[in-house]
Amino acid sequence: MSQVEWDSEDELEEKPFQLAYMRRLFRYVLPYRRTLGIVIFIVLLNMGLSLAEPLMLGYLIDYGIVKNNMELITWIGASLLLFRFLGWLFGYLHTKLINFTGQRVLFDLRQQLFNHLQSLSFRFFDGRPAGKIMSRITNDTNAIGELVNGGLITTVMEVTHLVGIVAILFWMDWQLALLSFITMPMLYLIVSKLRPKIEGSWSKSRRTMSAINGNVNETIQGMRVVQAFSRQKANDNRFNEINTNNKAAFMRAIRMESMVWPLVELIGMIGTCIVVWFGAKRVIDGALSIGFVMAFINYLWRFWGPLSALSKVYSQLLSAMASAERLFEILDTEPEVKNAATAKELPPIRGEVEFRNVAFQYGPDKPEVLHGINLKVKPGQRIAIVGPTGAGKSTIVNLLMRFYDATGGQVLIDGHDVKEVTLESLRSQMGIVLQDSFIFSGTIEENLLYGNEDATEEKLMEAAKSVRIDQFVSKFPDGYATQVEERGSKLSVGQRQLLAFGRVLLSDPRILILDEATSSVDTETEQHIQEALARVLEGRTAFIIAHRLSTIRDADLIVVVRDGSIKEQGTHDELMKTSGLYANLVHSQLLMQQSFNDVLNEKSEQQVG
Ligand code: ADP
Repeated sequence: MSQVEWDSEDELEEKPFQLAYMRRLFRYVLPYRRTLGIVIFIVLLNMGLSLAEPLMLGYLIDYGIVKNNMELITWIGASLLLFRFLGWLFGYLHTKLINFTGQRVLFDLRQQLFNHLQSLSFRFFDGRPAGKIMSRITNDTNAIGELVNGGLITTVMEVTHLVGIVAILFWMDWQLALLSFITMPMLYLIVSKLRPKIEGSWSKSRRTMSAINGNVNETIQGMRVVQAFSRQKANDNRFNEINTNNKAAFMRAIRMESMVWPLVELIGMIGTCIVVWFGAKRVIDGALSIGFVMAFINYLWRFWGPLSALSKVYSQLLSAMASAERLFEILDTEPEVKNAATAKELPPIRGEVEFRNVAFQYGPDKPEVLHGINLKVKPGQRIAIVGPTGAGKSTIVNLLMRFYDATGGQVLIDGHDVKEVTLESLRSQMGIVLQDSFIFSGTIEENLLYGNEDATEEKLMEAAKSVRIDQFVSKFPDGYATQVEERGSKLSVGQRQLLAFGRVLLSDPRILILDEATSSVDTETEQHIQEALARVLEGRTAFIIAHRLSTIRDADLIVVVRDGSIKEQGTHDELMKTSGLYANLVHSQLLMQQSFNDVLNEKSEQQVG
């Protein structure tokens, strides 16, 4: 499925019934077939008990009340009570068992999806909004779970109910039975005409609900910008509009729904009236007993419940089809970057890196964003990658981490092509610190140990000290056990950066990739970050997407990237002499756009120089 479809697709729409999906879904239920068998057995038993009731009541009237047989009345009464009790017990049992099965299916499906998601390559996540992927793991699995939970049992129960009722009616009196179904064609017409309309209005109501969710989600995510631009009023109006749409759509759906089902019952009632009329006549003629007619009518009344229940299951089934399609789409997506069949473990590396004529495009129909990249890096060297936004700097490091596979040429580490080694052995020897370091919810300690869970307490403290985390952590009452909340929202930008350094330091990679933060932090934190950085970089091959002049000057090799190719490479002094692109960039201070500090530093350096 293309990205466009992902964006425009309505999350809650229905899809036509597909046997292939049903078969595939059935495979999830298969492991629990024994429980399911028991459930179906109990349901059938229960249905049998329930179907016996009207007959027993008829018997009670004809042979108990009419014949003044108190003993029989007591017996039948007691039996009815017992049946109801058994019904309650069976109901409890089957609800419990079916929920167990439904939850297990849901659990398995969710687990499988989550595992699979983690194996998928970056390209899968490019352009697929996180919210939509999330809704697949939550809403879509729920829809499937509900189908197993409610749909399956309702179908078994109500279909047996219907078949049972019809069979009993014909068995009792086929002529009366035929008479009572005289209105069926009319009913069929009405339901088949109006049902799509009802479904259409429900689906519109769900779509507008989706819009509400999307709007609220975006507003919360962007609350800072909303408030900074004082957009509350405009947002209120927009929300009011979506909210009104939802209310209107819901009311329309309810109006349709509340009109149609009572109409169905009304028409059903016509059938019942005809039966009552003919039945009564035959009672008066002495051909039928009162109890018989009462029982017959009782069955007729029970006929409508299953019909409406089955119609609901049908729409449930159709929306489960849509969910199944979306879930299977994810499950059927193969990770693009994966271990080759012949992949070997990458032995402990020294940290030599070579890009050999590397080219790359983000997709078959996307433009080539890197061309002819040649680069040789010795172990322990520090490479600064510089260049304007969109030049391809991040793409270069993405290829090194093998987040994507180069579409041309080779990326070699210690002479091993990254495509020929296992992902795990490759990535475990590399570290990455991004501009906005992702901190997970949990404690500071857990975040530090993220890349190396076995690190000793001593190592942890050592790492924390060298990246200066200890200073701010000691101010928290809970120290390293402090919960940082989702995305580390309890920490400042600078603190998050330090924490990310600590995390990568503990995992001790041979090759480190760093996307230098452009956001400005206060001078003291900035100094901490610089010191921490120096510690982290010690003795490792480092690729730094560099913004600060200090980083760039100290680099062993500066690589200037523009329009997807390397335009210049060399040390600061070498490049300054050529008066090429780099020299121009430095002079025009393009490199300095980020932090006020940098600009000041550079100014003072220039003055000194
Ligand atoms: P830089 O890091 O130098 O700012 P990038 O490497 O991020 O540049 O981007 C290089 C080019 O690749 C840009 O034209 C960008 O639009 C494109 N690009 C980056 N990421 C993706 C992606 N996930 N899918 C498609 N195109 C991308």
